[in-house]
Amino acid sequence: MTKAAISPTYCKTALNKTGIPGYRYCLNPYVGCSHGCLYCYVDTVLRFSGRAGKWGEVVVAKVNFPEVLRRELRRKRAPLGRVIFGTVTDAYQPAEAEFGLTRSSLEVFAEERPDDALRRQSALPGLFLPAR
Ligand code: SF4
Repeated sequence: MTKAAISPTYCKTALNKTGIPGYRYCLNPYVGCSHGCLYCYVDTVLRFSGRAGKWGEVVVAKVNFPEVLRRELRRKRAPLGRVIFGTVTDAYQPAEAEFGLTRSSLEVFAEERPDDALRRQSALPGLFLPAR
Protein backbone atom coordinates (compact mmCIF):
# COMPACT_ATOMS: atom_id res chain seq x y z
CA MET A 1 0.00 0.00 0.00
CA THR A 2 1.42 3.36 -1.01
CA LYS A 3 0.95 6.37 1.21
CA ALA A 4 -1.97 8.41 -0.06
CA ALA A 5 -2.11 12.18 -0.06
CA ILE A 6 -5.09 13.22 2.04
CA SER A 7 -6.83 16.50 1.43
CA PRO A 8 -9.87 17.96 3.19
CA THR A 9 -12.96 19.24 1.45
CA TYR A 10 -16.50 20.33 2.33
CA CYS A 11 -19.47 18.39 1.04
CA LYS A 12 -23.00 19.57 0.30
CA THR A 13 -24.72 16.23 0.76
CA ALA A 14 -24.13 13.12 2.85
CA LEU A 15 -27.08 10.82 2.16
CA ASN A 16 -27.01 9.61 -1.42
CA LYS A 17 -29.49 7.27 -3.05
CA THR A 18 -28.10 3.93 -4.08
CA GLY A 19 -29.19 1.23 -6.48
CA ILE A 20 -27.65 -1.51 -4.33
CA PRO A 21 -30.42 -4.05 -3.72
CA GLY A 22 -31.90 -3.81 -0.25
CA TYR A 23 -30.62 -0.31 0.48
CA ARG A 24 -32.05 3.12 -0.21
CA TYR A 25 -29.14 5.34 0.80
CA CYS A 26 -25.38 5.11 1.03
CA LEU A 27 -22.87 7.13 3.04
CA ASN A 28 -19.31 7.74 1.87
CA PRO A 29 -17.37 10.19 4.05
CA TYR A 30 -14.23 9.81 1.95
CA VAL A 31 -13.51 10.00 -1.76
CA GLY A 32 -10.86 7.55 -2.82
CA CYS A 33 -9.23 4.80 -0.83
CA SER A 34 -5.60 4.51 0.23
CA HIS A 35 -5.68 0.72 -0.03
CA GLY A 36 -5.74 0.96 -3.80
CA CYS A 37 -6.70 -2.68 -4.36
CA LEU A 38 -6.04 -3.78 -7.91
CA TYR A 39 -9.40 -5.52 -8.16
CA CYS A 40 -11.38 -2.53 -6.86
CA TYR A 41 -14.33 -1.53 -9.06
CA VAL A 42 -14.66 1.95 -7.61
CA ASP A 43 -11.94 3.45 -9.76
CA THR A 44 -13.98 2.57 -12.83
CA VAL A 45 -17.32 3.59 -11.35
CA LEU A 46 -16.12 7.02 -10.27
CA ARG A 47 -13.81 7.53 -13.24
CA PHE A 48 -11.27 8.39 -10.59
CA SER A 49 -8.38 8.34 -13.02
CA GLY A 50 -9.47 11.76 -14.22
CA ARG A 51 -8.69 13.23 -10.83
CA ALA A 52 -5.43 14.58 -9.44
CA GLY A 53 -3.83 11.21 -8.79
CA LYS A 54 -4.07 7.48 -9.37
CA TRP A 55 -6.52 5.33 -7.49
CA GLY A 56 -5.02 4.57 -4.09
CA GLU A 57 -2.77 7.63 -4.03
CA VAL A 58 -5.34 10.34 -3.32
CA VAL A 59 -7.96 10.49 -0.58
CA VAL A 60 -10.34 13.37 0.03
CA ALA A 61 -11.90 13.68 3.48
CA LYS A 62 -15.31 15.35 3.62
CA VAL A 63 -14.61 17.11 6.90
CA ASN A 64 -18.16 18.42 7.43
CA PHE A 65 -19.80 15.09 6.58
CA PRO A 66 -21.23 14.38 10.07
CA GLU A 67 -22.75 17.87 10.33
CA VAL A 68 -24.30 17.61 6.87
CA LEU A 69 -25.64 14.17 7.73
CA ARG A 70 -27.26 15.47 10.90
CA ARG A 71 -28.91 18.30 8.98
CA GLU A 72 -30.24 15.91 6.35
CA LEU A 73 -31.54 13.41 8.90
CA ARG A 74 -33.42 16.15 10.70
CA ARG A 75 -34.91 17.41 7.46
CA LYS A 76 -36.12 14.01 6.25
CA ARG A 77 -39.20 12.94 8.19
CA ALA A 78 -39.89 9.67 6.39
CA PRO A 79 -38.09 6.49 7.44
CA LEU A 80 -34.87 6.07 5.51
CA GLY A 81 -35.04 2.34 5.04
CA ARG A 82 -31.71 0.59 5.11
CA VAL A 83 -28.54 2.66 4.79
CA ILE A 84 -25.13 1.30 3.87
CA PHE A 85 -21.76 2.79 4.74
CA GLY A 86 -18.76 2.79 2.41
CA THR A 87 -19.98 1.76 -1.03
CA VAL A 88 -17.27 3.60 -2.97
CA THR A 89 -14.57 3.88 -0.32
CA ASP A 90 -13.33 2.04 2.75
CA ALA A 91 -14.95 3.92 5.61
CA TYR A 92 -12.23 2.61 7.95
CA GLN A 93 -9.16 3.28 5.83
CA PRO A 94 -6.15 4.93 7.53
CA ALA A 95 -7.52 8.47 7.07
CA GLU A 96 -10.26 7.57 9.55
CA ALA A 97 -7.65 7.53 12.33
CA GLU A 98 -6.99 11.20 11.65
CA PHE A 99 -10.45 12.50 10.72
CA GLY A 100 -12.87 10.16 12.50
CA LEU A 101 -15.63 10.93 10.03
CA THR A 102 -17.09 7.45 10.01
CA ARG A 103 -17.19 7.21 13.78
CA SER A 104 -18.73 10.68 14.09
CA SER A 105 -21.30 9.88 11.41
CA LEU A 106 -22.27 6.65 13.15
CA GLU A 107 -22.77 8.61 16.35
CA VAL A 108 -24.93 11.12 14.51
CA PHE A 109 -26.94 8.33 12.96
CA ALA A 110 -27.46 6.63 16.30
CA GLU A 111 -28.58 9.89 17.90
CA GLU A 112 -30.91 10.98 15.13
CA ARG A 113 -32.25 7.68 13.78
CA PRO A 114 -31.79 4.95 16.37
CA ASP A 115 -34.48 2.81 14.74
CA ASP A 116 -33.08 2.76 11.23
CA ALA A 117 -30.94 -0.15 10.20
CA LEU A 118 -27.35 0.48 9.27
CA ARG A 119 -24.85 -1.79 7.58
CA ARG A 120 -21.24 -1.23 6.69
CA GLN A 121 -18.58 -3.17 4.85
CA SER A 122 -15.76 -3.18 7.37
CA ALA A 123 -15.83 -5.51 10.36
CA LEU A 124 -13.89 -3.50 12.94
CA PRO A 125 -15.20 -4.27 16.41
CA GLY A 126 -16.78 -1.64 18.58
CA LEU A 127 -18.01 0.55 15.79
CA PHE A 128 -21.14 -1.27 14.80
CA LEU A 129 -24.72 -0.17 15.04
CA PRO A 130 -26.91 -3.27 15.02
CA ALA A 131 -29.74 -3.46 12.52
CA ARG A 132 -33.07 -3.32 14.35
S1 SF4 B 1 -12.72 0.57 -1.53
FE1 SF4 B 1 -12.33 -1.51 -0.80
S2 SF4 B 1 -11.76 -2.72 -2.60
FE2 SF4 B 1 -11.60 -0.54 -3.15
S3 SF4 B 1 -9.43 -0.02 -2.80
FE3 SF4 B 1 -10.57 0.46 -0.91
S4 SF4 B 1 -10.42 -1.39 0.38
FE4 SF4 B 1 -9.84 -1.95 -1.73
